[in-house]
Amino acid sequence: MATHDQWRWPHRAFKRVQQLYDLHSHSNFSDGILRPQDLVSRAKEQGVTTLALTDHDTTAGLSEAKKMAGELQIELIEGIELSSLWRGIGIHIVGLKVDSQHPVMQQAVQQQLESREQRARQIAVKLEKCGFHDTYAGAAQFAGDGIIGRPHFARHLVAAGHVKNEAEAFKSYLGAGKVGDVKQLWPDIATAVGWIRASGGVAVLAHPDKYNMTRTKLRALLDLFVESGGQAIEVVSGKQQSQVTRDMAVLAERYGLWASCGSDFHVPNQPWQELGSFTPLPEKCDPVWCHW
Ligand code: AMP
Ligand code: MN
Ligand code: MN
Ligand code: MN
Repeated sequence: MATHDQWRWPHRAFKRVQQLYDLHSHSNFSDGILRPQDLVSRAKEQGVTTLALTDHDTTAGLSEAKKMAGELQIELIEGIELSSLWRGIGIHIVGLKVDSQHPVMQQAVQQQLESREQRARQIAVKLEKCGFHDTYAGAAQFAGDGIIGRPHFARHLVAAGHVKNEAEAFKSYLGAGKVGDVKQLWPDIATAVGWIRASGGVAVLAHPDKYNMTRTKLRALLDLFVESGGQAIEVVSGKQQSQVTRDMAVLAERYGLWASCGSDFHVPNQPWQELGSFTPLPEKCDPVWCHW
């Protein structure tokens, strides 16, 4: 469990309160399954004391999440996970403590929303050429009132019997480099970081190990991220191998980046990304929450 000790003033005496920060999670406003209020309840049940809701390219779930967080006395950090593009790779930048009412953030989510809509149409055209019909409508149904993402196409392909499961949908049609991996509409890294910083947030490079880059390429990415105003890196993203955690901690130190951690929770019953369920940040890390 990721814990951070902190002294608090309870009614009668000092008491040591274990803090558990989960700074990356999704609701059904993007590609998660739970409503924001249910996500917050689940986080509370899992012992999380500070939760960031970081839906893909939208802040629409934050008000519901904040309301429930107030009721359950759990700290809710306003966040977002922005899609960006670098050297043909989709890179995710998490913004923590963003002001969702800031005009820059409002304009950013509007632009991303339009890009997502356009992208979903393009993905549907590509999938049509693979012989799969009406995938836009199918994906839209899974997205409900939320914004459409590739996981909604994956869920539709499974439901329509075209693939066995979502993993196969990504492996064959939607994952990196596959026909449905449309990403040319996303802004560059400097733009995404700029939106976060301008709206008062902390810019965090999400799940750096998940891009499957060579170390040389990851260093080039970090050079640009830092140059663009990026401030932190997810040293721990869900359940990951301890070697990865050590490697990412070394990179954080080398680049002078603060360290973040989060489950990247989307769906219940996926043990590798359960709320609050990951190892603590290594000792040498400088936690991002010490800077707000
Ligand atoms: P999008 O934001 O529409 O580009 O979709 C990206 C999302 O798809 C990620 O945030 C994950 O939730 C999900 N995803 C990416 N790769 C896979 C995969 N191989 N299997 C299942 N889900 C994936
Ligand atoms: Mn996702
Ligand atoms: Mn991501
Ligand atoms: Mn995520």
